[in-house]
Amino acid sequence: MEIDYRSVGLRVGLEIHQQLDTSTKLFCSCPTKLAPEGVRYFEVSRILWLGKSELGEIDPAAAYEIGRGRRIIYRVPEGYTCLVELDEEPPHDLNREALVVALSIAKALNAIPVEEVYVMRKVVVDGSNTSGFQRTAIVALGGYVEDEEGVVGIQTIALEEDAARKIEEGPDYVVYNLDRLGIPLIEISTAPDIRTPEQALRVAYRIGLIMRLSGRVKRGIGTIRQDLNISIAGGERIEIKGVDKLELIPKVIKYEVLRQLSLLKIRDELTRRGLRPEDIPEDFVDVTEVFANTSSRLVRTSLERGLRVYALPLPGFKGILGTEVCPGRRFGSELADYAKAWGGVGGIIHSDELPAYGISERETLKLFEVLGLSRERDAYALVVGDPERARRALRAVVDRLRYAFVGVPKETRGANPDGTTRYLRPQPGAARMYPETDIRPVRVDEGILKEVERIRVPKVEELLKTLVEEHKVSRELAQQLIRDPVLHTYLDLVEDLRGVVEPQVIATTLLVHLKSLRREGVEVDRIDYSTLAKVLEAVGRRVIAKEAVPEVLRAVAEGLSLEEAVGRFRTLSLEEVERVIDEVIKASAEAIKARGRDRAIGFVMGKVMAVLRGRADGALVNALVRKKLEELLG
Ligand SMILES: [Zn+2]
Repeated sequence: MEIDYRSVGLRVGLEIHQQLDTSTKLFCSCPTKLAPEGVRYFEVSRILWLGKSELGEIDPAAAYEIGRGRRIIYRVPEGYTCLVELDEEPPHDLNREALVVALSIAKALNAIPVEEVYVMRKVVVDGSNTSGFQRTAIVALGGYVEDEEGVVGIQTIALEEDAARKIEEGPDYVVYNLDRLGIPLIEISTAPDIRTPEQALRVAYRIGLIMRLSGRVKRGIGTIRQDLNISIAGGERIEIKGVDKLELIPKVIKYEVLRQLSLLKIRDELTRRGLRPEDIPEDFVDVTEVFANTSSRLVRTSLERGLRVYALPLPGFKGILGTEVCPGRRFGSELADYAKAWGGVGGIIHSDELPAYGISERETLKLFEVLGLSRERDAYALVVGDPERARRALRAVVDRLRYAFVGVPKETRGANPDGTTRYLRPQPGAARMYPETDIRPVRVDEGILKEVERIRVPKVEELLKTLVEEHKVSRELAQQLIRDPVLHTYLDLVEDLRGVVEPQVIATTLLVHLKSLRREGVEVDRIDYSTLAKVLEAVGRRVIAKEAVPEVLRAVAEGLSLEEAVGRFRTLSLEEVERVIDEVIKASAEAIKARGRDRAIGFVMGKVMAVLRGRADGALVNALVRKKLEELLG
């Protein structure tokens, strides 16, 4: 489905978080590296308590987390954490190096530094910070990025401490590693000036590139995270967290627009049917009896564990829960998210999707009968669980269903790898920032500004010059590179393989080979960075020819191990090449003689190269073929 983004009134703002490559954390002297496997650690366990904010309100996001009643376990690795991360010691002064790097990036984004940096506390209640808040400080305001569809404003540039790293999660507990907590992050928030998904991708890429060119940011998976704020006319401003791949941005936006449009359509349909929020009952019914002899494995194993099945009757709702909200997700999936988040149950099952999950036609109809519903007009939702969890889950489903009469609920959502999103939590209230009294404000004085001057962030145009003159990449490829998000990978590979392989080979691999393999339908996303680096290193070390790169990558993407793939396309020795040529000539001796020397060269070359495919240098093979034919034909 094509969407006219202008006519739906799409507005997108980006929030880009990038780890800075400083020598210490933002408020202590711990290193800014994640603890490797095997480092000694101990664990601390905490439980979240509900407290009112200083203005006396209870934050909806906080109430939500408490409602979930989870235990939080912190892993504290030795050498990567100190008492500051544990919130047992006040934070030290704001890291000056981090401030200088953030201001140099701000300058490259045309933003103006603030006169004084005040650290604030932003309430976080998911346990990802031991103190219950994240420290954040605005360092610059009011920049912009240019884009072909219009200038996009930058509202704020802030320095923040990164959150603890989630390692494991269950229905009633979560484990965090404290090594990441306190690593400096720069947070760049654009105005909601972005009007199309493609523009969002270009702007995110451009900001990422400018940060990258400062040479002072971390690289690799997880060091940059994009959040999106997306709204359409009549919809709601939705926060989507954790888009970690740049390429996913346009898809996430498209799906979110589709989702909001569908929710608005569902609202109109409910009104058209004359339904009202109060038609949704508060009570639910124990229907475990219906499943006494069920052949559904899902239900049976749950019943064996002592769980029960509860139903929520939904008069007039036929077809609503089955309505698709974006590819792969139905309105029922939205409700299931609420049931999972609030009740810790596996999800919901609804009548629009039945019979399914082994639940029979007979059971499906029996449920309509037991609940006093009409299968032509009505619907029901089922939850499997203990009474307490089921109650919480169905309560959340009822609240969410009632909101369907209003439209799009204000939520914080998380991005899934396929571009869809899931419900994470309600959006936090506005009153969740207050001053951090443990840290002195920092005046952005001449001294700091002088240090900022010393970090020169090259302009994107200067990078083009570097690519052509220093990396010796052809002008055409260089121009493509600076417009393509793959540039980040290119720069990483050039850095990691300096002196091993020519940048031109890297550029060709990324821009030509990988793209054409993708067009052929090869799943190139399965090739990770380190595999790519090893393949290119093999070219540099002359283990494989550069002509073999597409075939090796194809083999890896199709599931072959790197060793096998490289082995299969390994450059052959002179003797091996000669043997292949001898075999071809021997097998086709008659045909060769019939053609005569001149025509036979092309004929033999064709056959030989079909066998050698990228495993020998073409010029060498040609010379050898000529020599051998001369010997044969005189
Ligand atoms: Zn520390």
